[in-house]
Amino acid sequence: MAEVEVRDIRKSFGGGSAAVDGISLTCGNGEYLVLLGPSGCGKTTLLRMIAGLEHPTGGDILIGGRSVRGLPPRARKIAMVFQSYALYPHKKVEQNISFPLEAQGMSREERIEKVKWASGLLGIGHLLQRKPRQLSGGERQRVALARALVREPQVFLLDEPLSNLDAKLRASARLELKQFQQRVGISTIYVTHDQVEAMGLGDRIAVLNQGRLQQVGTPEEIYHRPANTFVATFVGSPPMNLVSRDGKLVGFRPENIELEKTAGSRDDAAVFHSRVLRIENLGADRYVYLRVQDDKGDTNIIAKLPIDHPLHVAADDDADVIVRKRHLRMFDRDSGEETAA
Ligand code: ATP
Repeated sequence: MAEVEVRDIRKSFGGGSAAVDGISLTCGNGEYLVLLGPSGCGKTTLLRMIAGLEHPTGGDILIGGRSVRGLPPRARKIAMVFQSYALYPHKKVEQNISFPLEAQGMSREERIEKVKWASGLLGIGHLLQRKPRQLSGGERQRVALARALVREPQVFLLDEPLSNLDAKLRASARLELKQFQQRVGISTIYVTHDQVEAMGLGDRIAVLNQGRLQQVGTPEEIYHRPANTFVATFVGSPPMNLVSRDGKLVGFRPENIELEKTAGSRDDAAVFHSRVLRIENLGADRYVYLRVQDDKGDTNIIAKLPIDHPLHVAADDDADVIVRKRHLRMFDRDSGEETAA
């Protein structure tokens, strides 16, 4: 395993704005770093540059402390697993896994040993004689991982490897992937646009937008201390509410709202007068859609309240939105950056 560092890396495909616009970032030894951002923000381009499949327009990439500029993909000791696993359909699982080793000229005995080791680690030893079409999506994914693993890479690059799986399988594949990474201890950079995946898998998350790094931090930091309004509203479902007050944007999470008919005056909390628009029951929680009065006139927000929590208001009622001070985040109204209270 090895540390991966990108320094002021850029990629422009010509025309318009750069796909990756000066990103500096480090994935530590054995770390699981998730690149998170909306479609088109430059995640795949960044990953492809690290793999050596795309030439940077500027900046540098270091793997294990050494610049890999000019090195072909094979010399970088990296394994990349894509969204489409690209297994050879006419080859058995065993041959699919050992193919990169054959290409390296490794002896048959060694190859058999390696396939045994990797398939054992991933729990697919019983599938070696099958063809890819005889496998489930999750099993195919594990074969692709095994094929990447036999090359003993220093770094794993994974580009939305779970996106072909249904929701239930995704959850179990996520668990497997994390346990596997912890067992092998390999530095991993994982691309996704799915914030649940990012929060669940990442030791740290790097949030990207329009080719730029917005914030890098632990899932807790990203969620509780977003660096700007982009991160605040991209991470979290429903997203952080933003209300304009005293020349600033005040942010608070839907689950940090208390609702009362009248709050009275509170020292420990901010109070916003509102009207209840609609209440949705969603099993464990209910969403309360509210229109609050703020500096702009009014703004729609959402409160997320546990279903067993007594609710004293109904649709079309006036209600006071109460948010404890420790749950408030302040952002500059023009730049969107976090500011002091
Ligand atoms: P997604 O989640 O949809 O895969 P992404 O965040 O991975 O998106 P990239 O694929 O890195 O985004 O693309 C970033 C930007 O660069 C996009 O605007 C895309 O259209 C552009 N782009 C990517 N590859 C090329 C290319 N080969 N030629 C021209 N433009 C490209």
